[in-house]
Order: sequence, then C-alpha cells, then structure tokens
Amino acid sequence: MPLRIPYTAPFPPPTIHPPSAHSLAGSIAALASFLSPRPNSSKTLLLTGAGLSVPSGLPDYRGPRGTYTLRRNYRPVFYAEFVARHASRQRYFARSYLGWPAVERVKPNKGYEAVGALGGLGILGGVVTQNVDALHPRAHPDLPTIELHGSLHTMTCLSCGTPFPRADFQTELTRLNPAWAGYMASLPASIPGNPEDAPATTNPDGDAELQPSANPDGDVAPAPGAPAYETFRYPSCPSCLASPPLLEDGSRAEIRVDGDGAWMPGSSGGVLKPGVVMFGEGVDPGVRVAAERAVDEAGRVLVVGSSLATWSAWRLVRRMRDKGGEVGIVCLGGVRGEGEVVGEGIGGVRVVGRAEEVLPEVVEALRRRVDGGEGDGGKGSLRAARQL
Ligand SMILES: [Zn+2]
Repeated sequence: MPLRIPYTAPFPPPTIHPPSAHSLAGSIAALASFLSPRPNSSKTLLLTGAGLSVPSGLPDYRGPRGTYTLRRNYRPVFYAEFVARHASRQRYFARSYLGWPAVERVKPNKGYEAVGALGGLGILGGVVTQNVDALHPRAHPDLPTIELHGSLHTMTCLSCGTPFPRADFQTELTRLNPAWAGYMASLPASIPGNPEDAPATTNPDGDAELQPSANPDGDVAPAPGAPAYETFRYPSCPSCLASPPLLEDGSRAEIRVDGDGAWMPGSSGGVLKPGVVMFGEGVDPGVRVAAERAVDEAGRVLVVGSSLATWSAWRLVRRMRDKGGEVGIVCLGGVRGEGEVVGEGIGGVRVVGRAEEVLPEVVEALRRRVDGGEGDGGKGSLRAARQL
C-alpha cells in the first residue's frame, strides 16, 4: 500500500522545456498552448501541492532548491505512533493546537483564483490536491477537488468513524489546556516557517528551535518556555463516550475520561484523529480510486507547486504518462522523476516559476485566445469548452 512518507533525497535541477520557457513570456505562452483544448481530447487535470499555498502564508516543505533544508528540524508524528501512543498524540495535538489559528484564517491567493478561472474557462476537468488546507474547495466550489491527503478541517474517530469539526475540537483543547492557551496567547500572530539559513538548535527529540516555527500540516514547533507535551490533554470522541462502540474482538470499548472530559490512558477507544492522511498512513482507498479515475478521464495533467515527493502523488503523474498523456509542471525547485515525464523527445511543459505569478498570466493569455486576439486552431475548441 502506498504510504505517505516524504522522499527526502534532493532532486535534480529542473530541465526547462520547451527551451522558449526560459523567459516568463515564453513560460506563459508554453503553458497556454499546453492548456488549450485540442479537438477530441479530454480536459486537463490539475495536481497541486504545498507550493500553491505558500503565498497564503503556509510554509512549504522544501526550499526553492528542492531540498529538505527548509524543514531540517521537522520530524512529523507518524500514523502508527499516533494510534499506539498517548504521548505521541499529546505531542501532535499540542503542536496542532498552536498551528490551528493560522490554518483557520488562511485565505486562497491569486494562484487559487487562477485555478478557479481556468475551471470557468472549461479547461480543467478537476483538481487533485496534496494540500490539507481546504483552499481549493473554498476558492472554486464548483470545480471538483479530490483532497488526496484529506483536510485539516475535520477530525474522525478511530473507533466509531464519527466526524468532528476541527474548530470545535480547538475550543475543547483551549478549555482542557489553560497553560497552553496562555502560551499560545504569548506567541506572535504570525509564526514564520523555519527559514533555510536561520540558526536552529535541536533537542534530543529533534524538533526544538530558538523560535516557534510552522510546518504545512498546521503543526507549530513550540520554543523553549512552552509547557511540557506531557501536560497536554485532548477530549474523547463524544459519540464513543455516550455509547461505547464494539471493538474488533467483539468486546465493548471502555472509554475513561478525567473530571474535565479529557481522554485517559487505559481507554480502549474514543481517540479522535485529524482528517488528514498522516505520514506513514495509507491514502484512503476510495480517494485513491477517485484520483486514478480523474487521471484516466483527463487528457493531460498539470502539476503545480509540488515536488511529487509523496508516492501517492508521483504515481498519478506516472499513470498519466503511461497512458500517453502529456505532463506539465510549474514548480520552483526540482521535481521527483521529472526527466521521465517531460522534456525533449517526451513532450509536455516544464516551467520554473511561482504559481501565483504565472497562472494568472496564463489565464489572461487563454482569454485573449478565446476573444480572438491571438487566433489559432485551439480558439474554437476553447469557446466550445467554455460553453460545456
Ligand atoms: Zn467515536
């Protein structure tokens, strides 16, 4: 089963294709041609990653050079640890508690707006995203989005599967953790991502830094002075508490909570999990199949702001290439396996640029084609696509 584990080796530098895409104007023209509907061809599928959300204020995992240096101190909690260990959940939830306000107030940027405009032009069949910030559905509710790695905005019970809004979970965390609430109140309103060249200290646990810093999954590493992770309390699933579910062995789960309703070790159920695919966890089979179907129904795929470090994203691009569809890439840094899917003798487009700068220009170029400013063979089919 493909697991969500980042590929940490550095990627080769990007090979720009076609050569005319070395300039911004050339990049825009190449992308507009790539996206222009062809007769008897299906629409484009967009595959997006953290790079698209960076201008909204969410940090990327990788720096412009495509290496992991930007996040060198970040060691995420893995799924198996989360399920098995109360202490791992305390660490995860404490950091996610600090990170939630930024996740909640983040807004779609110009890159997301351009995606919505491409949908409005009838060019995109849909979006598959690795992002868990729910910015796609917010920016373009009418263009279908498959959230490959889930969403930070919901929680799900590991025992009974009942969903729980993340915002309500946060309210409960504040109630159960007054010392952490006080610590959070002392933090700056905006917590920066760990900058590539900033001095950083690492404790034996591998994540402490001089300043609090943010990671893309809504995770914030606290600085020295924060309360200890072991003090962090989190609520039990309210459904399990009201009506303990049957376990796999047929016995009834026993949920123990303290006087304030916080989950207690020794319980055999009632743990709430973030609605995201955690590191080391498999992508939901239903979501995986839906994403594969989206690839099969599309004529080509455009990758935006993703280094394809996770297997679940890379295999979709590989699938498109295997069926003979073209691949386009807009990304600042190197991308996993890009030489296999785009370039001289293969086709496709490889552009080095920021999505929020390039995509709005591409939308304008495509609109000009529709309106007859730069007439070509794709004009009629673009008009037709828009009317669909
Ligand atoms: Zn439950």
